[in-house]
Amino acid sequence: MIEETISSYADQLVAIRRDIHAHPELAFEEHRTAALVAEVLGGFGFRVTTGIAGTGVVGSLTSGNSGKSVGLRADMDALPIHEATGLPYASRTPGKMHACGHDGHVAMLLGAARYLAEHRKFDGTVHLIFQPAEEDIGGAKAMIDDGLFDRFPCDAVFAMHNFPGKPKGGFLFRTGAFMASADTCKVTIRGKGGHGAMPHLTVDPVVVGSSVVMALQTIVSRRIDPLAGGVVTVGRFSAGTTSNIIPDTAHLEIGIRSFSTDVRQQLHELICKLVDGQVTSLGAVSEICYDYGYPVTVNSVEETSFARSVAEALAGTDHVQDLPYPFPVSEDFSFMLDERPGCYFGLGTGDKPGRPWLHDPRYDFNDDCIVRGSAVWANLVQRYLVN
Ligand SMILES: [Zn+2]
Ligand SMILES: [Zn+2]
Repeated sequence: MIEETISSYADQLVAIRRDIHAHPELAFEEHRTAALVAEVLGGFGFRVTTGIAGTGVVGSLTSGNSGKSVGLRADMDALPIHEATGLPYASRTPGKMHACGHDGHVAMLLGAARYLAEHRKFDGTVHLIFQPAEEDIGGAKAMIDDGLFDRFPCDAVFAMHNFPGKPKGGFLFRTGAFMASADTCKVTIRGKGGHGAMPHLTVDPVVVGSSVVMALQTIVSRRIDPLAGGVVTVGRFSAGTTSNIIPDTAHLEIGIRSFSTDVRQQLHELICKLVDGQVTSLGAVSEICYDYGYPVTVNSVEETSFARSVAEALAGTDHVQDLPYPFPVSEDFSFMLDERPGCYFGLGTGDKPGRPWLHDPRYDFNDDCIVRGSAVWANLVQRYLVN
């Protein structure tokens, strides 16, 4: 059984995970991590390509001659958080920490790499994609722009994230949207400043901005299909210096999330129209800078059902859940899923009360789950590239 075989070298995988944990590197700075990954993959007999989008690494292994291929992705970056776990292998770099478990993701994929290289019970090519910069700045997109799928053709792609708070060793799936898109909109409102005691001689951008904030609340509640959902959050509103001065300008920063490409487009149009209309009607002028961030993470039907069946065979049907709703957080594997069919799924890492969640300074990846994660990857490859 794959899981038992991988258990026999669990110590090696835990040591790798803790080594990466102690040496966290932020987005596009994953030089040490990438070198470690390249060395380990090379040692297992993979063809290793480094320097993709800077620090990205792909390990490729071919067995047989079917011409089929599959890509599995792990992210490598840490977060700008000061670790508060007090663990012996805690971050040695103040202000940087593996608080999202990407250290565990790397170790799990390397565990599968060893198994696949030692057994080669598949017919085709597997590409293990070690990606920089998942948090915020889109390392997946950078790898695609650097020719990822031209250089390493993949018929389908898969990725997995650890989920604290969910039963240990269980899996979470969802066909269609798994996570939200995340876009931002910056608005500058230009009014006319003046003395706070003579507002009639000014165009007050604070009042204009306030009415924009309130009007924005009607978009999700009154313009978007309630069953489709969405989020419009004004996370920053800044203006002025003191109580007796009406400033010239006000600035808003808006975070926007959706669970379908159509709603994403609709939110873009509605927000721009509403801001422009509201600001103009009050005699001010607006500048709008709308930035598309991560797309909706959309799992394809066939690949999700396939990955789900692999997880069920490994963990048992009772330990595989279907999420009723997508998560409102986002993930840049969405860029890969826009290019290739595939599935992003979750691995539960324990539901003991009080276990810190992702991005918490007390969080630590649960090493008890490494073997399960490696085993699902190895099983998935053997079944996708069945010989
Ligand atoms: Zn994260
Ligand atoms: Zn993460």
